[in-house]
Amino acid sequence: MTRFIFITGGVVSSLGKGLSAAALGALLQARGYSVRLRKLDPYLNVDPGTMSPTQHGEVFVTDDGAETDLDLGHYERYTGVAAQKGDNVTSGKIYSTVIARERRGDYLGATVQVIPHVTDAIKSFVWANSQDTDFVLCEIGGTIGDIEGLPFIEAIRQMGNELGRERSLFLHLTLVPYIASAGEFKTKPTQHSVKELLGHGIQPDILLCRCEKPVPSSSRRKIALFCNLREERVIPAPDVETIYDVPNVYHEYGLDTEVLRHFGFEANEPDLTRWKEIVHHVKHPEGEVTIAIVGKYTSLVDSYKSLAEALTHGGLANNVKVNLNWIDSEIFEKNDSIHRLDGVDGILVPGGFGERGAEGKVAAVKFAREFRIPYFGICFGMQMAVIESARNLAGISEAGSTEFGPCDEPIVGLLTEWASGDQVERRNETQDYGGTMRLGAYDCNLAQGSLVSQIYGAEKISERHRHRYEVNIRYRDALEASGLRFSGMSPDKRLPEIIELPEHPWFVGVQFHPELKSKPFDPHPLFSSFIGAAVKKARLV
Ligand code: GLN
Repeated sequence: MTRFIFITGGVVSSLGKGLSAAALGALLQARGYSVRLRKLDPYLNVDPGTMSPTQHGEVFVTDDGAETDLDLGHYERYTGVAAQKGDNVTSGKIYSTVIARERRGDYLGATVQVIPHVTDAIKSFVWANSQDTDFVLCEIGGTIGDIEGLPFIEAIRQMGNELGRERSLFLHLTLVPYIASAGEFKTKPTQHSVKELLGHGIQPDILLCRCEKPVPSSSRRKIALFCNLREERVIPAPDVETIYDVPNVYHEYGLDTEVLRHFGFEANEPDLTRWKEIVHHVKHPEGEVTIAIVGKYTSLVDSYKSLAEALTHGGLANNVKVNLNWIDSEIFEKNDSIHRLDGVDGILVPGGFGERGAEGKVAAVKFAREFRIPYFGICFGMQMAVIESARNLAGISEAGSTEFGPCDEPIVGLLTEWASGDQVERRNETQDYGGTMRLGAYDCNLAQGSLVSQIYGAEKISERHRHRYEVNIRYRDALEASGLRFSGMSPDKRLPEIIELPEHPWFVGVQFHPELKSKPFDPHPLFSSFIGAAVKKARLV
């Protein structure tokens, strides 16, 4: 029998609701239960795919090709359960489903309303494919009181009522600020937030109180009294040194024990060995390396969430701390600033879109190639690496990408046709922007004897994609003659998936996003190897 845990947030945004949900998922798993995590996003976009990463953060792509909220990345990294299309829904998707049904005549005769039609659509999303799981953890995006969130709050209220307390739990994340001048923790924002939730008919069962340092028992008692809860159900969630300590700390404060008690389960001790080991490694590195990330959305670190995590995982695999040096590639388009890359142990150009900053990325690739600094190009970073090699190794001086407009030597061009299972997907310039890229998991064959086949220890791999352009296969011979190796290809041999420079200590470009599959307890081999090369470089200097 599936139980549902609904996670809401109050007071302010950015409290780390996604991380809290993920950590609770990991704790329930550590007790031997199966979990699935879902996210309901109240905004009106159908999915985050068309939103700027600097507004919304990274777009996390699932194996089945959905463009989803970055919280799904936290869920996967903490639980290892691969997210699916059906694990993230937005108001935009719910409304478009309801309106399409109305046009089809499915509601014939009825006035279509938020309650029950929109709330029913939300509820069926939460229910879908949940039968085989012990716990579905369902996070509601935004903060309580947001106008857009109301139908979602109403839908989970109804579900709570229908399921009963034995199958549902409401967890509310709030902030308990510490006011230094008064030397006190303040409980009023939490009281107000719970009042707001009660106004929508929801009494939280557990409060998770984010705070700079542990909330003292006097404040816990006060919150418990005003919010109608037992003190053990008011759980402090203090800031921690590393996000991988969150499951350990929540457990110490009794979160999982209280959740299980609510459902009437005997609470055996969870096995948290792997989380303790990870924290130990994070806190006791044997050295450090510095990686320059030359990108475009560097003003918001969340734009590259999975990437930053995957680099940390690569560090864990090598027992080193990875310092991330975020650099806006545009600076390399002016004067002599390329020397900001002097002394870094590795250079990474991540995924990206559009022309702005592209030449700066090409300059960073050139620097990495010429000075033999480990280089990792991801998606756009691979495309820029191929353009750089085309210009400076193969002598194709006009090499460019049609993503930036018409081009004499389209080394990178629009992806117009590709195989997806037994079907052929086709695209042209006039199509909609949303949801039309080559998305999700695709197979790739690795060339024998290549660096990547050695790194993966396999001949065939599957990785997640999100791109509209591709390296133009017509240039393969010219590029290979100049020293670039096409070491990974789609099974039909038409789409270049990986390139490498065998003459270089570590130079790899991949058309996919390996960062999306890396886990702290299972670092992605490409990141482990890249950081390993950076360690070698750091020792040589
Ligand atoms: N803009 C490039 C493309 O669409 C790269 C995309 C990416 O880096 N995710 O192919």
